[in-house]
Amino acid sequence: MTDCIFCKIVAGAIPSKKIYEDSEIIAFNDIHPIAPVHFLLVPKVHVAGLGDCVAEHEGLLGRLLLLAPKLAKEQGLDGFRTMINTGKSGGQEVFHLHIHVFGGGSSLPKT
Ligand code: AMP
Ligand code: ZN
Repeated sequence: MTDCIFCKIVAGAIPSKKIYEDSEIIAFNDIHPIAPVHFLLVPKVHVAGLGDCVAEHEGLLGRLLLLAPKLAKEQGLDGFRTMINTGKSGGQEVFHLHIHVFGGGSSLPKT
């Protein structure tokens, strides 16, 4: 067991509000939501971040992204925002690749 919090969630060693799981991906609600619906798409394999992805992750990245609209719809969203914080200066705090999906409530800030 590593010290990685998301690896621990994948292993079931710490609890999460899971909304989806398959053989290579898990999705669970963010513990500090920034919108009424806010979940994280997380590959089960430990990859530190988007900057550490290589060609072998291409399929996995595609499958992660394709899940975003499917799960967002299941969570009641008709529109949503995705975010991948990459590296410390990119705002990343958990160094296990994840895609934020959030929305609902009042309108999101303009980017
Ligand atoms: P990031 O800044 O992109 O690395 O975001 C990490 C996200 O993980 C933050 O939005 C945290 O609220 C969330 N987070 C941290 N620990 C947990 C946890 N145990 N369960 C669910 N979400 C978590
Ligand atoms: Zn990890």
